[in-house]
Amino acid sequence: MQIESASISQLAEWEKELSTHYERIRQHELNLDITRGKPSAEQLNLSDKLDGILSGDYRAAGGTDTRNYGGLIGLTCARELGADMLQVPTEEVIAGGNSSLTLMYHAVLTGYLFGFAGNTPWRELKAPKFLCPVPGYDRHFTICEQLGIGMINIPVNAQGPDMDLVEKHIREDNEIIGIWCVPKYSNPTGVTYSEETVERLAQLGQIANPGFRIFWDNAYAVHDLGHYVSLPSIRAATLENDTADSVLQFASTSKVTHAGSGVAFVSATGDNLKSLQQQMQAMTIGPDKVNQLRHSRFFTECTSLKDHMRKHADILRPKFDCVLEHLHNGLAGMNLGQWEKPQGGYFVSFNTRPGCAKAVVNLATEAGVKLTPAGATFPYGKDPEDSNIRIAPSFPPLEELDTAMAVFVLCVKLASVRQRLKHLHQKG
Ligand code: PMP
Repeated sequence: MQIESASISQLAEWEKELSTHYERIRQHELNLDITRGKPSAEQLNLSDKLDGILSGDYRAAGGTDTRNYGGLIGLTCARELGADMLQVPTEEVIAGGNSSLTLMYHAVLTGYLFGFAGNTPWRELKAPKFLCPVPGYDRHFTICEQLGIGMINIPVNAQGPDMDLVEKHIREDNEIIGIWCVPKYSNPTGVTYSEETVERLAQLGQIANPGFRIFWDNAYAVHDLGHYVSLPSIRAATLENDTADSVLQFASTSKVTHAGSGVAFVSATGDNLKSLQQQMQAMTIGPDKVNQLRHSRFFTECTSLKDHMRKHADILRPKFDCVLEHLHNGLAGMNLGQWEKPQGGYFVSFNTRPGCAKAVVNLATEAGVKLTPAGATFPYGKDPEDSNIRIAPSFPPLEELDTAMAVFVLCVKLASVRQRLKHLHQKG
């Protein structure tokens, strides 16, 4: 049935059926969770050879005893791994601790407190702001919110952020000092930025505040689900446009090896790295080099990055298929929501009919299926359309995901029908 053309009595009948079904499910007292994009235990197991891999040999190439202090920018072999993931030269990479989010936080702090490469610290501006492609990664937005940096929503389309709007804001406001980008298999939309988008982003450094930085969070650089999708090089594009200083790139092995104990990387020009190091040297004597060496050995002795990621994909693919099948079989052609099939990454982004996302999440929670809170994919937790829901299929076992998705589809239908009924009643 098409929701738009259904009469009030048809909708009421439908609502009754769905409610009965929903109440039956509520009796089951489910306790399922498809909130965060965490790897499953099966995926984590793929990297268990990290444990004990050093067998007492803690020396890195060059003789560094990795157990000791020092080495602020990380071991060369770890930086090489980061260079491989980000497709940049090793000299332009710092290998840090276990989290790229921490590196991003420190990079924002560096810009805010001290300024990058001799530019004005952002805190000296009246109203520093970041452009935030939406829906996006909630933790990016939290960093800005915590530091009082303003945020401006930029819709994401199939090519990436709406670049006309990005350029317009930057031309009109010299206090825009950053943009968050997840350029490959974006969180949550799954979009990979097109050649034109990357080129236009690379040109921003010519018109923006000189302290402006693109935060290129390539968290899903090697996370293909099937065939490989190539992301145009932002480094090459900025070099051509003489704007190389405008980009900071990030990646990590969090969703490659062990999510809580991987290695994170930041890549940038020498001047930017110098600014970061100045901030970091007050904070730490150096990263966990033992873990960096473990990772380097793992990817030379046990597996290649490519083979390893193929194994992840084999585990993840049936889960994505499960989500997409439920959405297709339950909702296709009904005008109750919109979604895309991602080629990689960790999420399926679902848009309900405007005004329904919160209701869907609440209904699912009541039925024992935890979803990422509606609005979480937008700055300040405010989705102006109340429409986007991020589905994270990686963590639960397939059977649980199957049940959770059946509940999800039911909740989408129920919330949509109730909203439509309310609307028709209000119209009189
Ligand atoms: N960036 C994005 C876009 C992510 O989705 C995530 C994990 N959900 C992270 C960064 C976190 O990375 P890390 O574990 O390296 O801090």
